[in-house]
Amino acid sequence: MAITGDWDRRISRRTLLRTGGSLAAGAALTGLLAPRALAQALGDGNPFSLGVASGDPTPDGVVLWTRVVADPLAPDGGVPARVVGVRYEVATDERFRRIVRRGALAARPDEAHSVRVELEGLGPGGEYFYRFSAGRDFSPVGRTRTAPPAGAAVPRLDFAFVSCQNWSDGYFTSYADVVDQDLDLVVHLGDYIYEGSGNVVRMHLPRVEIRTLDDYRVRHAQYKTDPDLQAAHAAYPWLVTWDDHEVENNYADLDGDPDVPPEEFAVRRAAAYRAYWEHMPLRRASKPRGPDMDLYRRFRWGSLATFNVLDTRQYRSDQPDPCERAERIDGYCPSQLDPSLTMLGDRQRAWIYEELATTRSTWNLLANQTAFAPFDRDGSDSRREFLTGDSWDGYPLERQALLDWIVERRTPNPVVLTGDAHLNRVRNVPPNSQDFDAPPVASELMGTSVSSNGDPAAPSSVFTGDADNPHIVFRNNQRGYVRCTLEPGALTSDFRVVSTVEAPRATTSTAAVYVIQDGRPGAELAWAPPGV
Ligand code: FE
Ligand code: CA
Repeated sequence: MAITGDWDRRISRRTLLRTGGSLAAGAALTGLLAPRALAQALGDGNPFSLGVASGDPTPDGVVLWTRVVADPLAPDGGVPARVVGVRYEVATDERFRRIVRRGALAARPDEAHSVRVELEGLGPGGEYFYRFSAGRDFSPVGRTRTAPPAGAAVPRLDFAFVSCQNWSDGYFTSYADVVDQDLDLVVHLGDYIYEGSGNVVRMHLPRVEIRTLDDYRVRHAQYKTDPDLQAAHAAYPWLVTWDDHEVENNYADLDGDPDVPPEEFAVRRAAAYRAYWEHMPLRRASKPRGPDMDLYRRFRWGSLATFNVLDTRQYRSDQPDPCERAERIDGYCPSQLDPSLTMLGDRQRAWIYEELATTRSTWNLLANQTAFAPFDRDGSDSRREFLTGDSWDGYPLERQALLDWIVERRTPNPVVLTGDAHLNRVRNVPPNSQDFDAPPVASELMGTSVSSNGDPAAPSSVFTGDADNPHIVFRNNQRGYVRCTLEPGALTSDFRVVSTVEAPRATTSTAAVYVIQDGRPGAELAWAPPGV
């Protein structure tokens, strides 16, 4: 859709983001291809139909992303295997009158014609607008921001965390509500794509389980055609990490599920990681080398918050095997109590331990994938059972050591943000998995899926714990996301839920508000809808 002229009228951020499109600007812009050759290469449509994105803000910069395509669902994007010149502009106003950066980049065929700009030297705590152009075509306009000055007292940070967006299972209706907020950041905890062939509400492309680089590129591009997802990327900088479905369900390091030879799985993982990097606002330094990609990293928001973005997939031990009930020790199978089991791997574990002992931030957040707090599956009061599966219950010794470290080193306000479960939960993390009534030592906010599992048969919310799991103080089964307001004195979490994912538009409401007070681990109910 074209916005031609008419830039004198005030355009709201939402209108701007929703319409996007090309600007018929008169500026002479030349790519590395001659203008005529470029126009022929890209065809008639706007080559920025996958939108724009930004991410990984620091006090002086942020990463901008786009990808040039002529046919978004073709493995090569429909663009000839040649370098395409792309220009970018960054301004402090949405009409691009005060341009602070501009430049040109090469979109290379071996990177699926994706481009990333790593801005540096910008002012801290600033709002910026950006757009790309190729030939005469302009991208939608994105808005982003830089982080506050290092160590600065920051009164407030607004962010959303999201996870688990299965295209086949439904529309990404949550993102229309995300765009309507006034956020600083969006954190994606993983399952950005799903690898299966699915056609529940929308058909996955390609129509097979994806395995090759071409497959993963088409799947990522298909997801990026979602208008609400595009708008949410254009509205805020994101911090992204992955879980399993960016590659394959329940994989662990080079262990596929079901098992395949590690050399064979490495080829698939390399393809998946490559396509992920090509489609995310990540730095060039994180470009994968074969099947390896650095993704865990850290962001600070003044002295208010630190986000430790974890990768609990690439380095983890294979999930332990189940056992008979009689074999369990304190609810665990002997296989779970193997001290060599790891979710983080040695290098990432050392990195997070160092941080949790030395952080000066008021709030210390772990952007985590699978369920962290223990969950007793056994309904009897006298017995416990912790699953051997994919969550931290499968890796209890590493979890316990991490919790003991947090307690010993007095990490201020540790909060675990979790995805994966396709359910909303507030889980006040007990000091160990046998003493659920003890005062919590950390807080876990588990956010539901954007669309995975589709609409629940009957929406339900429970606002207290039960006899088996008194520390799990909120349960809800709807689709949505979590909006958080972080202030020095409290973290307020609104569990936003959508009326449906089976239609492109939905209404969004708050299922509950839980608040964590500074210095007191564990969230408490602050608001529930009337009449529930
Ligand atoms: Fe998921
Ligand atoms: Ca029990």
